[in-house]
Amino acid sequence: MRIVVAGGAGFIGSHLCEALLADGHEVIAVDNLLTGQRAHVQAFLDHPRFTFLEHDVTQPLDLAVDQIYHLASPASPEGYRRYPIPTLLVNALGTYHLLELARRYGARFLFASTSEVYGDPLVHPQVESYFGNVNPIGPRSCYDEGKRYGEAMTMEFVRSYNLDARIVRIFNTYGPRMDPHDGRVVPNFITRALRGEPLVIYGDGTQTRSLCYVSDLVRGLRLAMDRDGLAGAVINLGNPHEQTIRELAELVLELTGSMSPILFAEPRPDDPSRRCPDITRARTLLGWEPQVPVREGLQATIAYFAQVLNHAPSAGL
Ligand code: NAD
Ligand code: UDP
Repeated sequence: MRIVVAGGAGFIGSHLCEALLADGHEVIAVDNLLTGQRAHVQAFLDHPRFTFLEHDVTQPLDLAVDQIYHLASPASPEGYRRYPIPTLLVNALGTYHLLELARRYGARFLFASTSEVYGDPLVHPQVESYFGNVNPIGPRSCYDEGKRYGEAMTMEFVRSYNLDARIVRIFNTYGPRMDPHDGRVVPNFITRALRGEPLVIYGDGTQTRSLCYVSDLVRGLRLAMDRDGLAGAVINLGNPHEQTIRELAELVLELTGSMSPILFAEPRPDDPSRRCPDITRARTLLGWEPQVPVREGLQATIAYFAQVLNHAPSAGL
């Protein structure tokens, strides 16, 4: 199959490209390198079935295609605060142009949405039928509302044109190729622990997240795309193993053997206090659930960052 991965030079997108190539598909990674890196796809650039297209998906695109994964969007709180308007545009206009492309070629479409559509949730764990508790004008709203708009646009293409499109709501995912500079909790804690610097917890550390290893997530994305009969389906993908940020900090210190202290700073505005997916729907519709325990996934991620840090210039990351 001929598959477009929008956001293919990003953290999750590059792992997806790798998995699709390994299964014999022709892959076109479309990315404007806003938060991604050419280095993430460097290893496949010479692959005969791989093409890298540097392109901003807020502009129209025309190429024959069987499937489109729309993963293009800044994803970390620091990333979308740095690029708030591009974040809104890629999830609105970018989603529109990619849906039009799918419609033109009768392609199947998957929109990578997020657990952030639930905002600071009042329902726990989060089920897909929950409408969420989002501040529409707060500092996270460019991302949360951008994704909610992208979901609405996707559903209208399903309703108006019978497009075979589905939505996955991705919960916090981590692993090798995360950007050490993007400010998310896993790269921050690991790089600081490896350098012996303090791990800084925003707030009191009782807020929770559920961390999914990237290989589990990519398997879920592919099942959600390839399974027939999912037009208009909305599916949570994430690891239901919930932990506090304090527990995560302690686990990273244990696994790295680091003596870094833990410090506490002001909480981030609108920081969700609890987040954990209900994955009943993914289990039922896809037969999917995460397999990589958090200790194992963190060890692989620590090994990756240790290598990155060793190759970094002396100014550090
Ligand atoms: P990432 O920033 O590493 O990757 C996103 C990619 O999209 C980057 O390569 C970036 O350059 C590209 N991009 C951004 N705007 C673009 C545009 N206008 N045109 C073309 N390319 C553009 O982030 P990620 O963690 O790999 O996230 C991938 C997708 O998954 C995003 O849509 C994100 O919202 C979603 N998601 C991720 C997580 C997570 O924990 N990583 C959680 C929920 C949802
Ligand atoms: N966090 C933290 N220290 C850091 C980075 C993040 O305490 O160095 C907290 C953050 O406030 C949030 C959680 O860790 O409660 C997850 O943050 P992240 O930026 O990874 O993603 P989010 O789930 O908020 O989108």
